[in-house]
Amino acid sequence: MTQLKDKYGRVIDYIRIAVTDKCNLRCFYCMPNEGIDFVKQDKLMSYEELLRTAHILSKMGISKVRITGGEPFLRKNIMYFIKQLSMIEGINKIAITTNGTQTLNHLDELISYGVKSYNLSIDSIDKDRFFDITRRDYFEKVWNCFEEMSKRDVNLKLNAVVIKDRNIEDLNPMVGLTKEKDISVRFIEEMPFNGTGANYQKLEWDYKKILSHIESHYGKATKLQDEKNSTSLNYQIPGHKGSFGIIPAYSRTFCGTCNRLRLTPKGIIKTCLYDEGIFNIRDLIRAEATDEQIKEAVIEAVGQKYKDGFEAEAKRTKSPNVTESMTTIGG
Ligand code: SAM
Ligand code: SF4
Repeated sequence: MTQLKDKYGRVIDYIRIAVTDKCNLRCFYCMPNEGIDFVKQDKLMSYEELLRTAHILSKMGISKVRITGGEPFLRKNIMYFIKQLSMIEGINKIAITTNGTQTLNHLDELISYGVKSYNLSIDSIDKDRFFDITRRDYFEKVWNCFEEMSKRDVNLKLNAVVIKDRNIEDLNPMVGLTKEKDISVRFIEEMPFNGTGANYQKLEWDYKKILSHIESHYGKATKLQDEKNSTSLNYQIPGHKGSFGIIPAYSRTFCGTCNRLRLTPKGIIKTCLYDEGIFNIRDLIRAEATDEQIKEAVIEAVGQKYKDGFEAEAKRTKSPNVTESMTTIGG
């Protein structure tokens, strides 16, 4: 089997595909209330283009795909795409990141396609704080989705961005959910990808502060062995069935083991969350590039992968400050 390797010896075997930039929530750290300049239909990677890309990448050693967005379940016929993706030889794992507002309707079908890994984003377990952060009234739906998913035989992770003055009260109760449920609750450091760059001050709630906040309530947490390529530092409160993790997305301590590529809704391949995009695979496909030419472009992009997110950010030229919305990149 071919392996995609960067110049630091990191094997790239995972791609996160943002299938849409549209969303029915407006999490303030991700997107302005009025939305963004959403990708027009003819500029969006079509399912055929995405599947061809996945086929080519699967032959280059990419075996894991995460479907993200925007909100993946807002894209029309998304289940068609997931079904086709699940049939590609070499794609061994499909994971989904979702806001949980539309997910439940599809759960049985997803499980039947072998999709067993779900990251469900929920920044607060309090209805009012949830509304304050997401600016939309969907708490009950998301909570119901969580309850149902936690009863199924799936690998469920809850994602919460930790935001000063907005959801600090939720941290300990969310860790409390792991007492009886075998789930992982992951706290993400806030990043400046909010669509404007505005209102982003230096990060106060970094991974160290998050951990110390939790430990000051629960006592010393047991450090768990992190999986290879894990983005989270993982812990368990003694006696709890589940675990919690902290994702130092802004402090970027995990870049040394990065195994990821990203594909944006417009077809831009990114080798780092913080880069400006390396090349556009949709344009190559529309210019009738052969599989070989596409492979070469991917190999070249991976060859240029930055050492870490700090280098990628420093090398930005078009827009030196990170201001894009996470919905255009995929989390
Ligand atoms: N809509 C889906 C969801 O919310 O799960 C998938 C896309 S969303 C962009 C993916 C993840 O990125 C979510 O867990 C979200 O909380 C996270 N995210 C978005 N903007 C962020 C930011 N500025 N800093 C840190 N995480 C962010
Ligand atoms: Fe939508 Fe997810 Fe962004 Fe929230 S984080 S606005 S749910 S894409």
